Amino acid sequence: QVRLRFAPSPTGYLHVGNIRTALFAWAFARHYGGKLVLRIEDTDVARNTAEGLQFTLDSLRWLGIDWDEGPEVGGDFGPYQQSERMDVYADVVAKLLDAGRAYHCYCSQEELDQRREAARSAGQHSGYDGHCRTLTPEQVQAYIDEGRRPVVRLRMPDRPITFTDLVRGEITFLPENLGDYVLVRANGHPLYPLVNPVDDALMQVTHVLRGEDLLPSTPRQIALYEALAEIGVGTGRTPLFGHLPFVMGEGNKKLSKRDPGSGLGEYMERGFLPEGLLNYLALLGWSIAEDRDVFTMAEMIEAFDIRKVNANAARFDPKKCEAINASHMRLLDPAEFGRRVVPFLAQAGVLPAEPTEQQQQLLTAAVPLVQERMNTLSESVDMLGFLFVPDEAFAVDPDAAGKVLTGDAGAVLEAAVKSLSDLSDWTTEAIEAALRQSLIDGLGLKPKNAFGPVRVAISGRRISPPLFESLELLGRERSLHRLEQARA
Ligand code: GLU
Repeated sequence: QVRLRFAPSPTGYLHVGNIRTALFAWAFARHYGGKLVLRIEDTDVARNTAEGLQFTLDSLRWLGIDWDEGPEVGGDFGPYQQSERMDVYADVVAKLLDAGRAYHCYCSQEELDQRREAARSAGQHSGYDGHCRTLTPEQVQAYIDEGRRPVVRLRMPDRPITFTDLVRGEITFLPENLGDYVLVRANGHPLYPLVNPVDDALMQVTHVLRGEDLLPSTPRQIALYEALAEIGVGTGRTPLFGHLPFVMGEGNKKLSKRDPGSGLGEYMERGFLPEGLLNYLALLGWSIAEDRDVFTMAEMIEAFDIRKVNANAARFDPKKCEAINASHMRLLDPAEFGRRVVPFLAQAGVLPAEPTEQQQQLLTAAVPLVQERMNTLSESVDMLGFLFVPDEAFAVDPDAAGKVLTGDAGAVLEAAVKSLSDLSDWTTEAIEAALRQSLIDGLGLKPKNAFGPVRVAISGRRISPPLFESLELLGRERSLHRLEQARA
């Protein structure tokens, strides 16, 4: 059985690149009927908070990426929060030291810097030089007497480390680039290069998918796996690794926290559909077929194959992201679409969180007018707000008024009121016929000059759902009232 994991640090921020990683691990696990473990890497106390953890969990739930083991769901290999596993790491480190796979290093920072500098000027490799690998008991005692506190380093093998990356193929790292690295700080704090592989081993992870930025740590982790196998920690099998391509933002630089569009919170606020965002993120390195870029998550799971992931950096394109989301908006059935816009309309104060029967009906009737025109759910506020806002609170956007309700607009609105007042049927067809007759035939106006003022008067904006349908939905009384108001 395949076991994958997603291992976020709960800083209260989720980068779209990390979500892409979670998505691929999830799709991989689901494709093979395996398990996804959610492990919280929160040993860096300064950066991680309880709210950060809650945000991470809520975000994954919102996205629809579910996990089989981890916080809130439990599992056989917990606890799944690293801050609760400190005794596990201490135990593993003791075993590594006993077995001679790790050792105490007493070098001070100044000593390390000095020797590194000397090595560099002599044209040698400047990683850790192995100074403390072979200390005698007397030397150790002398350091202890000086009051030095040691770090713990892993003894790296003196040979190349080769592995076959699931995305990038065979990769070899040479020993001169792989110095003995620190597993535990002098203050006893275990570090990522220790705790991450130890947990992968203990949680029996079979496949590690993660960002390309972590590729340099992989040979070191593989060496640690081998040591763990020797001391009987985990299954003894090293997982397979797949490093997902970088996500590039503007100017072909790695998409960073500072780039707009890099954090998940923005997409939630703007009213992206989780399925739309995930669909777009899936395209950052993977595709379902050459001529197709819109698909459901069920289709992705069915088709997902890590070997088809492209190793080249992927460019993050906010426009395309929005377009993919728009496609998913169009795929929703109208009732569902209506349900999903309610929280946005409610947040803007346009609708109550629990709309009345009548408001619900009006919303359902309006959905077909806007579903094809919206890219995100939050656009519903501008598009549909005018239908729900009470007349006393209705106001025309000043910019629209300044541009459209000028010059002849008064005469246009007057003619519109006149022709609509006598209308026997308040239907889209009748409204359209009456306005065409009075404004286009009667006043000889171009459609833009005829209908622009009417649109601004009834919707308050220059962009609205289709005009005649909007008038029908708004009703005769409210429409005439607004036309009169705009004339005044
Ligand atoms: N907590 C690490 C991160 O968020 C996990 C890296 C890994 O997947 O190995 O970068």
